[in-house]
Amino acid sequence: MDLDYLLAIPSWNSVGILVTFFTYLAIAGSLIPAKLVPGVTLQDGSRLHYRCNGLLSMLLLALLLGVGAKMGLLSLTVISERGLELLSATFIFSFLVALALYAAGCKSRNRSSSLKPYVTGNLIHDWWFGAQLNPSFLGIDLKFFFVRSGMMGWLFINLSVLAKTIQSATLSHSMILYQIFCLIYILDYFFYEEYMTSTWDIIAERLGFMLVFGDLVWIPFTFSIQGWWLLGNKVELTTAAVIANCFVFLIGYLVFRGANKQKHDFKKNPKALIWGKPPKVVGGKLLASGYWGIARHCNYLGDLLLALSFSLPCGISSPVPYFYPIYLLILLIWRERRDEARCAEKYKEVWVEYRKLVPWRILPYFY
Ligand code: NDP
Repeated sequence: MDLDYLLAIPSWNSVGILVTFFTYLAIAGSLIPAKLVPGVTLQDGSRLHYRCNGLLSMLLLALLLGVGAKMGLLSLTVISERGLELLSATFIFSFLVALALYAAGCKSRNRSSSLKPYVTGNLIHDWWFGAQLNPSFLGIDLKFFFVRSGMMGWLFINLSVLAKTIQSATLSHSMILYQIFCLIYILDYFFYEEYMTSTWDIIAERLGFMLVFGDLVWIPFTFSIQGWWLLGNKVELTTAAVIANCFVFLIGYLVFRGANKQKHDFKKNPKALIWGKPPKVVGGKLLASGYWGIARHCNYLGDLLLALSFSLPCGISSPVPYFYPIYLLILLIWRERRDEARCAEKYKEVWVEYRKLVPWRILPYFY
């Protein structure tokens, strides 16, 4: 029996895959033409600029891997065959990176909002939550780099799992549905990568183990659980189930993308039309039209429906494939509460007025 496999000890192969992946992303991110997107204004008045070229980087990598596989230089199934090794290698990498970030943060004499150290003296706390807001390495913004790596890693894990099912002639409707939904979600994510620059993780969270682990381990390895599960389990879906599943995905996508886009457009231009009409604005600052007039944080509802649609292809015989939607439900309820508190503090009476106008949270007419 292969003890290394059982203990998920990282092999040199898995380390090699990780190093190659990160090196590719660093080079592609710096060299491939990019849309330069200004981030939010930080406390000291400065703004970071993000190179948004994730979509091109990802498509180029997929092309290179496809050509490499065709020429017999690499195997597309390698990730699906070395999943546990890769998982443990990525975990150890995240652990070490967070330590390095903590050490660099503690040593920093920089007083800018991005790099000034936030050190409480509690090592575990500072290592977990991070010591700096926007650390960089060789000119690369690490927070943006890691979230990009995680989302792309998820896609390449999925593609490898797909290659494995094709190789073993076990490709099912469930696997096809799961793959298509995730592919659309990830392509969409990179198409609108600039929207990431105004999300909570990028603007408010410091870079410590929590975020590094979340980006590099949690996103790719737990969001793909359905794919791994389908590798070893057969599911027969009725036509009605397939149609219902597509419906959940479509509604989820419309709400998720629509709500996030409306907020993004509103922040850029508070007069931008929402659903063809001038927006209702509270206190000149908060949008109360479109999805944001139906429920506060309606975007979370879209994400939850999407997460559910990724799991439905697995049927209902096991709770395992439902790990992602259940985790997301807990995370987003927690996040919504945290954001409510933040907005109440930031917008004061304007938030109170918005709450009166839009009393529902996440789910219209319920929560
Ligand atoms: P939001 O995009 O909802 O951002 C919250 C911020 O939006 C608030 O702090 C406030 O910021 C602003 N805001 C809130 N209400 C309004 C309003 N009515 N009008 C104008 N501005 C408003 O949250 P996140 O950054 O947490 O999430 C972004 C997306 O990422 C969501 O769709 C979420 O589902 C998804 N996500 C997915 C995760 C996953 O694991 N799949 C994990 C986390 C998020 P300001 O101070 O700038 O006004």
